[in-house]
Parts: sequence; structure tokens; C-alpha cells
Amino acid sequence: MKQLLILILLLSISSWTVMNAQIILDKRDSDKAEKKEWAIIIHGGAGGLQPESITESRAARYTEGLTRALNTGSELLARGVRGIDVVEEVIVLLENDSSFNAGRGAVLNSKGQAEMDASIMDGESLNAGAVAGVKGIKNPIRAARLVMDSSEHVMLSGRPAEEFSIPFGIDTAGQDYFITEKSKRALLRAKAREKVNKNGTVGVVVLDRAGHIAAGTSTGGMTNKRYGRIGDSPIIGAGTYADDNTCGVSCTGHGEKFIRLAVAHDLHAMLTYTDLNLQEAVDIMIQNKLPSIGGTGGIIAIDKYGNIAYGFNTSSMLRAYATPEKREVEIFRD
Ligand code: ASP
Repeated sequence: MKQLLILILLLSISSWTVMNAQIILDKRDSDKAEKKEWAIIIHGGAGGLQPESITESRAARYTEGLTRALNTGSELLARGVRGIDVVEEVIVLLENDSSFNAGRGAVLNSKGQAEMDASIMDGESLNAGAVAGVKGIKNPIRAARLVMDSSEHVMLSGRPAEEFSIPFGIDTAGQDYFITEKSKRALLRAKAREKVNKNGTVGVVVLDRAGHIAAGTSTGGMTNKRYGRIGDSPIIGAGTYADDNTCGVSCTGHGEKFIRLAVAHDLHAMLTYTDLNLQEAVDIMIQNKLPSIGGTGGIIAIDKYGNIAYGFNTSSMLRAYATPEKREVEIFRD
């Protein structure tokens, strides 16, 4: 009798396991059914912009910058360019646009300097490169790519990162190039209030036509940050992550909080170890995990089927995304 009961118990456990596995497979298959040829999502930072107070010209500058970046990225992906190259080129465009907090237009540290961080990751090979605290490289994302491709390391910092990149012919720039009237005013305001302000960042995630995921992030960090401070953006697993088996992620927000939760890698882990889909994983991070430690900001992500997901717990996140079927450029909540 006892043996019969054990047998029945074992049979019901194994049929429950099979059923459950089937549910997970069905769910993943339905995500897969809509697999996109390519997909791209871009952010220009999460922050406190308000629909009622933003000037038309400022909104137009953001929309134009995001649209230009989205158009370029979409054309490159449609032509079959490698995702990792698309991420780099689109971030260069955003770094060259002083409307965004990266490259030209980077916010200033407590000494009034642009001190920038960037990272890039290839989801096919899991190769990654990053630079932190660079002050004289025109496009920090290019230096991050060089660290990935041409060094045996993942991250270089400060002047040594510049000394490593310059022999490859990378463009350099003096502080005058980065510092704008806008960033000087923002620093004065932050100093007057003795605050460190969160100001944006740029990031790009793509799925290319060959099915490879890539992600990158570039930033000036936070206005009035202590000199030498490094945020989440150049940290692989915090601000940036990509794995062809799961998803690509780029973050923006209060970097210290994103580092503590290893946000970008945690999304990858949620897809690896649970049956959550990407948007559900992003929602858990944005609505539960980050708020539990007072973290504010936003996330953009794409899964291996080209499903686009994003979320933010601030009032705005500059963002643009496209697949062959649809495209959107947005600042506030839908
Ligand atoms: N995450 C960036 C940092 O902490 C700033 C931002 O995205 O607003 O450096």
C-alpha cells in the first residue's frame, strides 16, 4: 500500500514537472513566434522632465537627436551590419549631440570637468570593453570598443585608458569641446543646492539580422559627482549586458543603486532561471527591486526574439525604438 502511494506521488510529481516545462516552452514559443528580423532601442536618459514645463524647442532637440540615431541604426541593421558595429555608431552620434549627457554635452563633476564612462558588450562572444573616468577622448564608446577588441582586459580607467586608445588613432578632444553653457549652469545649480544630480546617459541595444544581440552605454555620469566617481554605465552587469541566449540591456539612472543590484545582469539571470518574459523582468526591476533601495531610473532591453522592453520609474525617459514593422520616439509615459 505504502509503495503504491509513493508510486502515485512520483507519477504526479513527474507529470506536473512535464506540464510546467510545457507551459514554459509554450510561453517561449509564443515569444519566438513573432521573432523580428532586427530590432533596436535607444535611450537618451531617464529623468525628471515634465510634459507641462519642457519647452517646445528642448523637446524638439531631443526628438530630432533620437530620430537621427534611430534612423541610422535602423538603416544599418536592415542592411545587415553587425549589431556591435551598429551600437558603436549610434552611440557616437548621440555622443556628438550636445543635447545628451555623453561625449559633447557630458555633465560636469565637482571640479567642473567632463569625466566620462562607457561600455559595450557583444552577446555572441560575451566579449566586453569599458572605459571609466576619461576626460580627453572625443567618443568614449570608441575607446570601450578598442578595449574590447584590442586588449586582453575588460575595463581601463582614466589617463591610462586614454594612453591605450590614442595610438589606435582615436579622436581626442580638450575639455573645451565637452563643456557647454548648459552643463556649466547645471553644475552651478547643483553646487548651490549641494546636490549631486542625475542627468541622463545614452544607451543602445540591438538584435541584428544574424540573430546577435549587442548593447552599449555612454555617459558623463551625474552633475557635481565627486571627481573620480565611477557609475554603473561602464560596469558590465550593472549598466550594460548582452547575451545572445537571453537579452541585451542598457540602463540609466542613479548609478550607485544600479551597481548594487547588478541590474543589467539580473535581467539576464531572470530570463535564464525563470519563465518570466523580458517585459515582466524589466517591470519587476523597475517597480520592485530598484524602489526597494530607493533606486530611480530606466532600462531598455531586447530579447533574443527581438521583443523590445523598457521601463522607468522617473517622470521621463528619452527613448526610440524600431523593428521592420514599427517605430516610436517618446519622452514621457504613453
Ligand atoms: N547611470 C548614470 C550614472 O550613474 C547616470 C544616468 O544614467 O543618469 O553615472
